[in-house]
Amino acid sequence: MQSAYELLSEDFIKEYGARTALYRHRKSGAEVLSVQIDDDNKNSGAEVLSVQIDDDNKVFGVTFRTPPEDSTGVPHILEHSVLCGSRKFPVKEPFVDLLKGSLQTFLNAFTYPDRTCYPVASQNTKDFYNLINVYLDADFYNLINVYLDAVLFPRAVSDPMVMQQEGWHYELENASEPLSYKGVVFNEMKGVYSSPDSLHGRACQQALFPDNTYGVDSGGDPSAIPDLTFDYFKNFHRRFYHPANSRIYFYGDDPVPKRLELLDEYLSEFDRADADPAASTIQWQKMRQEPWSYTETFPASEEASKQHMLSVNWLLNDTPMSPKEKLALNILDDLLVGNSAATLQKALTDSGLGSSVIGGGLSDELLQATFSIGLKGVAPEKVSDVETLILDTLKKCAEEGFEDTAIAASLNSAEFELREFNTGSFPRGLSLMLGAVANWVYDRSPTSELHFEAPLAELKADIANGEPVFQNLVKKLLVENGHRQGVPVFQNLVKKLHENGHRVTVEMKPDTKYEAETEESERSRLEKVKASMTQQDIDEVIAATEKLKAAQAAEDAPEAKATIPALSIGDLDRNIKKIPIAVDEDAPEAKASIPALSIGDLDRNIKKIPIAVDEVSGVKVVTHAIPSSGILYADVGVDITGVPLSEYPLLGLFSRMLLETGAGSMDRVELTRHIGTQTGGVYCTSLTGTKMGGGGVIASSDDVVGYLFLRGKAVSAKTPELLDIVRTVVTEARLDSQQRAIEILKETKARLDASIVGSGHSYASMRIESRYTLEGYLNEISGGISSVETVKSVLKMAEDDWPALLARLEKIRASIVTRNNLLINLTGDQEVLDAAAPAISNFINSIPGAGEGVVSHSNWAAEANLIPARNEGFAVQTQVNYVGKGGRLFQPGEVVPGSFQVVSRYLRTGYLWDNVRVMGGAYGGFCNFNPMTGLFSFLSYRDPNLAKTLDIYDGCADYLTSLHLPADELQMSVIGAVGDMDSPQSADQKGFMSLKRHLIGMSDEDRQRIRDEVLATSTDDFKAFGDRLKALNSSARSAVVGSKAALEAANQGREGDDAFHVHDI
Ligand SMILES: [Zn+2]
Repeated sequence: MQSAYELLSEDFIKEYGARTALYRHRKSGAEVLSVQIDDDNKNSGAEVLSVQIDDDNKVFGVTFRTPPEDSTGVPHILEHSVLCGSRKFPVKEPFVDLLKGSLQTFLNAFTYPDRTCYPVASQNTKDFYNLINVYLDADFYNLINVYLDAVLFPRAVSDPMVMQQEGWHYELENASEPLSYKGVVFNEMKGVYSSPDSLHGRACQQALFPDNTYGVDSGGDPSAIPDLTFDYFKNFHRRFYHPANSRIYFYGDDPVPKRLELLDEYLSEFDRADADPAASTIQWQKMRQEPWSYTETFPASEEASKQHMLSVNWLLNDTPMSPKEKLALNILDDLLVGNSAATLQKALTDSGLGSSVIGGGLSDELLQATFSIGLKGVAPEKVSDVETLILDTLKKCAEEGFEDTAIAASLNSAEFELREFNTGSFPRGLSLMLGAVANWVYDRSPTSELHFEAPLAELKADIANGEPVFQNLVKKLLVENGHRQGVPVFQNLVKKLHENGHRVTVEMKPDTKYEAETEESERSRLEKVKASMTQQDIDEVIAATEKLKAAQAAEDAPEAKATIPALSIGDLDRNIKKIPIAVDEDAPEAKASIPALSIGDLDRNIKKIPIAVDEVSGVKVVTHAIPSSGILYADVGVDITGVPLSEYPLLGLFSRMLLETGAGSMDRVELTRHIGTQTGGVYCTSLTGTKMGGGGVIASSDDVVGYLFLRGKAVSAKTPELLDIVRTVVTEARLDSQQRAIEILKETKARLDASIVGSGHSYASMRIESRYTLEGYLNEISGGISSVETVKSVLKMAEDDWPALLARLEKIRASIVTRNNLLINLTGDQEVLDAAAPAISNFINSIPGAGEGVVSHSNWAAEANLIPARNEGFAVQTQVNYVGKGGRLFQPGEVVPGSFQVVSRYLRTGYLWDNVRVMGGAYGGFCNFNPMTGLFSFLSYRDPNLAKTLDIYDGCADYLTSLHLPADELQMSVIGAVGDMDSPQSADQKGFMSLKRHLIGMSDEDRQRIRDEVLATSTDDFKAFGDRLKALNSSARSAVVGSKAALEAANQGREGDDAFHVHDI
């Protein structure tokens, strides 16, 4: 088999314990990077901190270089379309079918400005699935088969209906109606183009790259998407989805020969002579020498009509950078904009010129790196001041350099992050893949830049030698330009930034007519199209609309469905010996031998997280002994249920003030640097949860736990420093900074506005929950739609009556920071936990308030007035809607059966996907079911419809009660739900999750019962869910975030209780 491949290079990446081999498939020209992780590869050495490879999450990915030539969104539409059926798997959506019943932990696709990536990860936790390893390998290979078939042989290139559905099409049901555009990507991008932040990001990129592929939008501009023809689309696939233009990646502990064999089956159908991979080479944008400016508009409400955005943007290179230079640039980014105390970030927020920093600093995942920074919420007459401030600040950095303490903090933070390699629930192998591809796709070595130790050591040596590394970088990249040779790294970085002439100042002007004009131009364009059509053309559009709808509504044929190699009912013993790695379409007996996993093979037991609960000097200390590579994860919490409800919305401001105003003898800058130098980071977060009743009963929603946590991490030896920082922050934070409070509030308001437009579904969901439970109500008043008004009034108070606000903040601190309120949660290796004990004891004794008796906690439940349940609409500047509807599916006192998680998941991947997304044209349709509170809601995302979507929700009950669910589909749903429950987590995530369960009273027995019930799910449970939904239909109420026009249209003909109460946001 290996003779089909030529071995190009081998590498051992000590930093990740990864053995890699780069092959070229001889016949097709495809390049394949195989990464093997095994226990022998474990990193060893004398580093302070070294990553331990304990990773059973296998990853596969294929990446094509797909530079677009226009903004029709062809790469993005193709990304969606190849997932809609292929040669061997001729169903409408094999991936949705796979999602239903696979144990995959990641299945997605991404369109970049120059490439398209299809990654999948599948879990194979040996200790957990020991007996069924072979099946999980099979699951992984099944996924790969479907992916390869999809990208190389998609239905989309022969059936124009796929592009119509995923990209765009004319919709017309009868000749008298106006013509309209429909399509999933079309609506997805309308959502993107409604977001001022996204429009700004796009404007910056297009301004910086006037001459190469980055100057157009690979995602698609809604006004250009309808220019895409099927011929161009089909050709784009032919040109760029050839193996010779691909980069294929494997990561895991499975045997390499088997990987190569599986691939060869697909690749050997192609000849490299038929492809021209050089044609997709990304061309460098030549650097200009003189700065210029660029102006665009964005949608704004009347209230925000004087709030401009301004950013300064640089292109940083037009030749490749060295690994050391890239690392230095990342550290420079942290020095300039990494946190609220970083030089440029601080200068901008302190200036009071705008409400919130935009731009995000360094971006280095494309061929050329860029740097972008600015402010939003800027008064028109102050716009040029922002530009001057940015340039002056950089000039100062170039002249004076950075303080040693600042460099030490940024360097330590970068080093900690590299070594910890904590990707949370995101598969590590995928993170490595994205890093590899970022060089590989530009024809550079995929692995050489994954070695970070050498450049890190070199950089440290340069700094130790006193080289003004960063200062020079700023000068060269941002201040001057063009003469980059022979300049010492850091000082030079600053210098470079300063000297760089390829700089564009982007101003975004608010336009209150933007939405109306965009809609009007679409309408008149469609009118013109219709007017130019003959009767025959119109008949054809009507017929095509009907045909597409019929195809979308049709069920896949059973024999087509049977091709999906999902894990399904099978005979364990028989199949164990047969592990075919591909499905042969000519041999029906091969299909029958698809490796199968049945429910009986899943582990019946929950995954337990170690937990020990102790008391130290009267304080509860919870510990989780979990391997952590020598890092201590410490969460220090204070009970906040004593805070009066009227003060609860201030907790967000309070928690940011803790870390962003300085503490004790340290000012804000010193504190931030101290944290960066001594730890891997400290942040503040809150935790609320509704307590469960015994036996899984939904308890009264009035019983809520609430904590504010400072969560930090450090290498074991730095435990005392970490805890000392936490103590200083909670007891001595300088809350008395009026200016900082105003800045934080302005920024919070700006973020909230942007977030409601971009993620309206989350706010609709929060709003629904706030009508039924105290926990939902707390979330709503502190971070939901109603917090918009609160933030405004607190901001006014901060400006007009600061002493009063300060007194309230001080009172919060005095009431919560006492030893009686303290709770400590620690996660790490047993030795790390043992070593931390003395420091923990010292810490506890340093917190005042011992012996003051039980703090009397106020009664939130009595104080709270839950939001009334009625249909509500929240009008924002947008071209799409977020439609939510829901209520109480279970009452307090009832027990929620575990099986309902299976049904709810089934609705997300089935009924709602098919009706809201595929047929409705929304980007997403899903539901939320909270088994702790018994609440259920339907939600849609970037939805062109409103009333129609509500009808789909209302029809869900009847759908479930009349559903005839085949046994194999039931089984798939169960397997998928088990996969969700077992998704991988990092050590710190496990420790915090376990704490939350402990606090709300969810025992392992409860979890085991739920798992047992999930595994025992029957078709009756689907009907029972349907009956519950039917009862809910009459009491459920909507919460919609959308355009005013859509809400007004939906209100026509609605009266009384049925009508939406519309609020402008
Ligand atoms: Zn998309």
